[in-house]
Amino acid sequence: LLLSYEPAKRLARLNIDMTSHLLGARMLFEILDMKAIEQDEPGTPVLQLKGGQIEFNDVYFGYRENEPVLRGLSFVAEAGKTSALVGPSGGGKSTVMSLIERFYEVESGSIAIDGQKTNEVTRRSLREAIGFVSQDVFLFSGSVRENIAFGRPSATEEEIIAAAKSAHAHDFIMTFAEGYDSRVGEHGAQLSGGQRQRIAIARAFLKDAPILLLDEATAALDSESEAEVQKALRSLQMDRTTLVIAHRLQTVVNADRIFVIDGGRVVESGCHDELVARRGRYFSFHQLQFAGQQERLSA
Ligand code: ADP
Ligand code: MG
Repeated sequence: LLLSYEPAKRLARLNIDMTSHLLGARMLFEILDMKAIEQDEPGTPVLQLKGGQIEFNDVYFGYRENEPVLRGLSFVAEAGKTSALVGPSGGGKSTVMSLIERFYEVESGSIAIDGQKTNEVTRRSLREAIGFVSQDVFLFSGSVRENIAFGRPSATEEEIIAAAKSAHAHDFIMTFAEGYDSRVGEHGAQLSGGQRQRIAIARAFLKDAPILLLDEATAALDSESEAEVQKALRSLQMDRTTLVIAHRLQTVVNADRIFVIDGGRVVESGCHDELVARRGRYFSFHQLQFAGQQERLSA
């Protein structure tokens, strides 16, 4: 379960701005060379993608012994649809996303994509199938171009610009004196939260993976930035299987299916109208978490 500390030491030497647990795991796996630690058995097949359906079947998991986070979690995120995870903070939603990419191994139960267990296909093929956008965007010291192309260094200039345009990032990038050569990250230009998110969305467009994991922002962006980010995300979601950790009422209302996670399991599921009509957990949670967002929705 625990990773060697050596990569963590190497990570500390990189100039990276990062904030979350999940990002911690992601950074270790994506940026550093984890091959020595993560070996697939010789002959392990690659993931054969169909629509990108994600299925959790009775998954148990904890980061530490005797501290279970997921306790029999089961759900199916249908191919090509948008499924939303909602529930109290600390309930295990981000953990679900780390497990899908196999940053950690489940204790029991299974996770399958298109019917293939994620621990029976190569990690590379699994991670190639998945795009990820979160509220915690990390940018490294480098140019805007390098930051977008991260994860697909072979991308051409045309592809990078097309991705930035799709992400509604091109216009603000062009306002920088050096455009795509502008430096960002620790010693570079300060980007707003919304601009950072659009860089992350551009990365995901460039990766063009059939499965999209979205850990939605809680922090309020300024409304112009928010509108641009939402537009970009909507087009990114098209024709992909999307699993979103929803913090915005609009997202849950529009989701094809909502899974309410509490105590490490799914306690309710359905679409927004069904769950509201049931007047159960979702309904009370919804009143707490999304109170005050109603006006913006009807606006
Ligand atoms: P959510 O996204 O629903 O807020 P998380 O999946 O982030 O919940 O966290 C679930 C529980 O696991 C919390 O108690 C959290 O403190 C713990 N946790 C999350 N990530 C880690 C980690 N990398 N190491 C140890 N504990 C973690
Ligand atoms: Mg979370």
